[in-house]
Amino acid sequence: MLICAACAVERDEPVPGLCPICTDERQYVPEVGQQWLTLDELMQDGRKVSFEENEPGLIGISTDPKVGIRQTAQLVVAPNGSLLWDPVGYVDDNAVETVLEYGPVLAIAASHPHMFGVQVEWSRRLGGVPVLVADADRQWLGRVDPVISYWSDSKTVTEGLTLHQTGGHFPGSAVAHWAAGAGGRGVLLTGDSVFPNPDRRSIAFMRSYPNRLPLSGPVALRIAAQLGTLTFDRIYGNFNNVVAADAKAILNASAERHAAWARGDFDHLT
Ligand SMILES: [Zn+2]
Ligand SMILES: [Zn+2]
Repeated sequence: MLICAACAVERDEPVPGLCPICTDERQYVPEVGQQWLTLDELMQDGRKVSFEENEPGLIGISTDPKVGIRQTAQLVVAPNGSLLWDPVGYVDDNAVETVLEYGPVLAIAASHPHMFGVQVEWSRRLGGVPVLVADADRQWLGRVDPVISYWSDSKTVTEGLTLHQTGGHFPGSAVAHWAAGAGGRGVLLTGDSVFPNPDRRSIAFMRSYPNRLPLSGPVALRIAAQLGTLTFDRIYGNFNNVVAADAKAILNASAERHAAWARGDFDHLT
């Protein structure tokens, strides 16, 4: 198994010359060219997995020095076990030990293929827990394995913790809804289909972030309408970017604004 240095997604050998995820229009191959890494190389390089509590029951997991694009994984700790969301592109014995201190892992899932990380490797080291992959995005898997379980529309991990397919950034893009989060007001964990902006009070809806390609207005409105049926007050993005409160109203207002700009309502400002 090798790991793409740019996106940190695992891939079975023999690997292709260029990473299919990075050559897609949503990403890019760095100017230095394609590099494939092994877990051993990353470990010898002094890689560590770090843990930080975002709120009670939600642990942010990152790698230092960074692996790939420095995504943040989230461990959602529910009464029966936890969900490892957007797994990072590195894992070692210490990381596995720390994750298990919070209880058994029920499943691993990613918001979209850019966030697959080394999900099969995490699963194997956690004893073969299911890796939930949206059926619509199975073509992007670099590693197909019996631990993978395909799903569509929605998938309950455990009571109060459910995946919802929104599409958008990828057809299989998903959010995780955690009902007990934010003190019982509800939390959404999102990937790039619903992206909390640096201002912490607006959301972006893009097909590509690095290459600046927006989703259409109707798609932004569709996603906001779908998620509007869930109860939540806070959104965490996949880089630990957060809309801390009033997230549903902010999601709706952001989708309206996105659609209005795309429609040309603000062309007089250009
Ligand atoms: Zn890649
Ligand atoms: Zn992405």
